[in-house]
Amino acid sequence: MINRNGHQQRIGFIGTGIMGSGMARNLIRTGYDVHVYNRTRSKAEAVTHSGGTVADCPADAARDADVIITMLSDPEALLGVVTGVQGILETIQPGTILIDSSTVSPPTSLEVLQRLQEKEAMMLDAPVFGSKNEAEKGELGFLVGGDAEVLERVQDIFDCLGRVRHIGGNGRGASAKLVLNLIMAGTLQVFNEGMVLGTKAGIDPKVMLELILSSRARSGIIEMKAPQILNRNFTPFFPLHLMAKDMRLVRESAAELGMQLPIAETLNAVYSGCLNAGLANEDFAATVKLLEQQAELEVKLQPSPAPCPVP
Ligand code: NAP
Repeated sequence: MINRNGHQQRIGFIGTGIMGSGMARNLIRTGYDVHVYNRTRSKAEAVTHSGGTVADCPADAARDADVIITMLSDPEALLGVVTGVQGILETIQPGTILIDSSTVSPPTSLEVLQRLQEKEAMMLDAPVFGSKNEAEKGELGFLVGGDAEVLERVQDIFDCLGRVRHIGGNGRGASAKLVLNLIMAGTLQVFNEGMVLGTKAGIDPKVMLELILSSRARSGIIEMKAPQILNRNFTPFFPLHLMAKDMRLVRESAAELGMQLPIAETLNAVYSGCLNAGLANEDFAATVKLLEQQAELEVKLQPSPAPCPVP
């Protein structure tokens, strides 16, 4: 992990939430000199138990870094960390590469790129697919927007975190990520509606799920989220408020491109309803709960019948 000057490559890592903590740990384990900043300091401290250094602010994490990685909630958080007081722009050096793995809007990503270019620094937008488990195992998928040459210079870092798909120029990674999440949120919502309808009609949810998974209606997101719903486990792997944010960004993106997307509009209404119902910090699989309330039922595994008494 040696940089062009023959020193251990230094990474400033900002944002050690559900996803960032696993990513930062993998970089530390691989041998990078990682300087970790998180707004809630205890989460940065938890990551640096086995190595690395806690930074006091984003500017501190960015100081003398060869590469900076950001893994933050939303556009507002990214802009604050880059341009705010004690932000990255205060210390970033010419030639440094910022990899932003947060899911943000393409215009936000391009705005950050422009601010970095004023400092002769470079940027890749690299949002991810995969969740907490993939982040911990170094098996994330990165959707990268930016120059191929810049990507080549940080390929070793991506190799330690997962695999890369180069989508195109700056902003294209951010756009591709929003497309994926629109399809995932839409698919899950249709699954939820189907399962609530089937349960109301008297079909055992386990039987209905087996039928879906053995038909062309199956999908990766259903395979992942159905067990959570049927076992009533809504521990947040992907918190509902983040998918609500992504649906807002999809709508903004569509408006910017002069389009109106009916399903995206509906999903925005569904997610607003879920936020109002207090489901923000549950997994986004908890979207099923609004439908369940209306139907006065729960989509869950039925208790197995008691064994027949032995005569
Ligand atoms: P998370 O656990 O909520 O972490 C969010 C991070 O952003 C935390 O470090 C948080 O700091 C920081 N943050 C939020 N607002 C901030 C602000 N104003 N200033 C500074 N830092 C701020 O979320 P996550 O699940 O890791 O997701 C991170 C990004 O990856 C999001 O853009 C999400 O959409 C995307 N993503 C998530 C998943 C998933 O399955 N979880 C999958 C794919 C993509 P604190 O700790 O202080 O709150």
